[in-house]
Amino acid sequence: TSFGFKEVPEEEKSKLVGNVFTSVSSNYDLMNDMMSAGLHRLWKDRLVSKLHPFPGMKHLDVAGGTGDVAFRVLESINSVSRRAMQHGLAETEEETQIYICDINPNMLNVGKKRAIERGLGENHCLHWIEGDAEALSFDDGSMDGYTIAFGIRNVTRIEKALAEAYRVLKRGGRFLCLELSHVELPIFKQLYDYYSFSVIPAMGELVAGDRESYKYLVESIRRFPNQEAFARMIVDTGFQKVEYENLVGGVVAIHSGLKL
Ligand code: SAM
Repeated sequence: TSFGFKEVPEEEKSKLVGNVFTSVSSNYDLMNDMMSAGLHRLWKDRLVSKLHPFPGMKHLDVAGGTGDVAFRVLESINSVSRRAMQHGLAETEEETQIYICDINPNMLNVGKKRAIERGLGENHCLHWIEGDAEALSFDDGSMDGYTIAFGIRNVTRIEKALAEAYRVLKRGGRFLCLELSHVELPIFKQLYDYYSFSVIPAMGELVAGDRESYKYLVESIRRFPNQEAFARMIVDTGFQKVEYENLVGGVVAIHSGLKL
């Protein structure tokens, strides 16, 4: 790119990504709020609303260490259940299961701690599992839903992660991916470039004492396939009804697909 970034070998990529999430796992929420001006909360709300969670569903949130997406899925299911009960529709308690899978135990610990803070420490619906998006430990056709928020960009072989998502979903299961994407609007793009290449590394240094890892994260956003190319990868995996929605002019995009 015009910013002169060099190619990073795969092992180094994994190490850098690991560094970021180990160094920021403790102030991860603060960084997220600072970098997105709090917007990541709304983006995650939107992701979960597109999932249409339902009581009794089996859901897998990959790269979900912080629990941010899982808590929203659970909350959404609970509100559906409450409404059903008010109308006298729910007779038995459904066995909702939400699996949170992340490769980094530090990030999972952040999520577990937050679950305790929310009074969900003993919640029997939430399962915290250390694992790799590229080689999931779940059975074929076992999930109604799969989400990955700000995670797939960090995965070394995206195709493998998509194939695993497809494998673990049931027929009719929904795939949803929230990811930083590509901004094309000319003036907005210049502002966004300035923000990404100057402001984000400076924030990384200030908050996590780690400028290099944040510089790398910004570069990884640029190297991630654009909205159309990523949608094609999802189609090539076998998903149907593939579409995407841009938020804030493409700063983030939500891609979705169904396994039919
Ligand atoms: N989904 C959370 C959110 O939106 O707040 C966390 C996003 S965080 C930017 C990215 C997460 O991806 C980290 O927790 C990291 O450990 C995880 N991750 C990176 N590579 C992974 C892989 N191959 N499999 C599973 N998780 C991975």
